[in-house]
Amino acid sequence: MRLSVPRLRRVLLGAGFLAGMAAAFAAGMCFPARSPAVCTQADLTVRPDAVPFSPAVSTVATAETQPNAALPEKWVCLTFDDGPSKTTPDVLSALNAAGVHGTFFVVATDYNEKYLPLLTEAASAGHQIALHSASHEYSDIYRSSEAYWADIALLKERIAPYVDAESIRYLRFPGGSTNTVSRRYGGKGLMKQLKAEVEQKGWQWVDWNVCAEDAVGGHPSADTIYRNVVRETGEQTHCIVLMHDSSTTRTTAEALPDIIRWYADNGYTFLTVAEALPLG
Ligand SMILES: [Zn+2]
Repeated sequence: MRLSVPRLRRVLLGAGFLAGMAAAFAAGMCFPARSPAVCTQADLTVRPDAVPFSPAVSTVATAETQPNAALPEKWVCLTFDDGPSKTTPDVLSALNAAGVHGTFFVVATDYNEKYLPLLTEAASAGHQIALHSASHEYSDIYRSSEAYWADIALLKERIAPYVDAESIRYLRFPGGSTNTVSRRYGGKGLMKQLKAEVEQKGWQWVDWNVCAEDAVGGHPSADTIYRNVVRETGEQTHCIVLMHDSSTTRTTAEALPDIIRWYADNGYTFLTVAEALPLG
C-alpha cells in the first residue's frame, strides 16, 4: 500500500518529522564549514511542509497501518556526510564498539581518494553506503539535471572498486533537498526536478530531522555535539541524525559513544536508512 502525499504528510506530522525539520533548520548551520566545498545556512530555506525523504516510502505506510509491526516504535538513523576521510576510522570504531550500524553519504573528491578503501571496511561491517556527490561543488553539480547526474555517475565510478556501487539507491543532496544555492546555477525548479528524477528511478533521497551541528565553524566539542543531538531530538520518535565524517569533524567520533548511549537509554532502535525507509 502506498499513501497519497497528503496522507503521508499527516503520518509524518504525527511522527514529529516536520517539527524536527523546522527545529533543525532554525537551530543553525548543519553543514561542513571547511571541506573542499561548503554548505552554509544561507543555502537553505525552511519549507514547513517538507518531508525528509522521498514521498514514496512504503514503510511509513506499513508502520501506519500496522503499528509496531514493521518498525520499532522509536528508531534512529545515524548518518554521516562528506566522508570517507581520516576521521572515518574513528567513526567506524565507535559504531562497531557499540554494535550499531550507520549510514554514510559519501563523496569522492580530489581530496579523499586515499580514504575510499575504507568504504569496503564499512560495508563489510554492516554499515550502509549511500551517495552524496563526487565533487560536492554546487556551481558544478547544480548547473543542470545533466550535470547533477553526471556527478553521481562519476561518484559511482570512483567508489565502484570498493563497494557494489550499482546497487546503491539512496542519496542525499548536497545542501539538502531544500537548498536554495542550486537556484543560482540551475534555476528555481532544479531541486524539484531532481527529486522527481530520483523518485522516477525508484531511488530514495534522504534529508534529516536532527542536526548535530558538528560542521559549524569553531570546531564544536564532543560535549556540544552531544547536547545538540539531544536537544534537536526532543520528543521525536523517528530520527534521522545528520553528522559528518570529514577531515574537519573529528570531535563527532568522540561524541558518538555518548550519543549512542543516550538513544539506547531512551529506547531507540538503531537502523540504517535502508532499514528505516526500505524501497520496494
Ligand atoms: Zn555534504
